[in-house]
Amino acid sequence: MSLERTFAIIKPDAVSRGIQGEILARIQKAGFTIVAIKSMRLTKEEAGGFYAVHKARPFFGELTDFMSSGKIIAMVLEADAAILKWRDTMGATDPKKAAPGTIRHDLGTSIGNNVTHGSDAPETAAFEIGYFFAGLELI
Ligand code: UDP
Ligand code: MG
Repeated sequence: MSLERTFAIIKPDAVSRGIQGEILARIQKAGFTIVAIKSMRLTKEEAGGFYAVHKARPFFGELTDFMSSGKIIAMVLEADAAILKWRDTMGATDPKKAAPGTIRHDLGTSIGNNVTHGSDAPETAAFEIGYFFAGLELI
């Protein structure tokens, strides 16, 4: 295994419910290093650029409305095999299908309102980290 970085978001549903601390505690407990972190609100256009890969999907409008509906917390997490490790820590996209003990199972309320985002591959992690953070923020 080798150290890797992934991109994570605490989504607007979690921030508005005030459960950022619970999610950050789980990130820490799972053994990730938080390399960079910031709180911000995306415009619908910025959310659309982030989720451009889903542009043709029926849920795209709802997704970009949701992701621009309030503040998010954007992070770069580092660990051995961080991309897969963070996907495992989050659980499946649909909280109903996620394993007990995962963030989405325990805290998510629907397939849309699933409290966190995580990159799914090295290429998407590189794009997503660069979409949110400048090089100087990642030293
Ligand atoms: N999503 C949705 N309806 C769906 C599938 C996905 O609202 O049927 C939302 C959900 O918030 C998900 C995001 O779109 O996290 C991106 O979908 P993806 O398939 O990439 O899931 P993820 O990588 O987040 O597990
Ligand atoms: Mg995805």
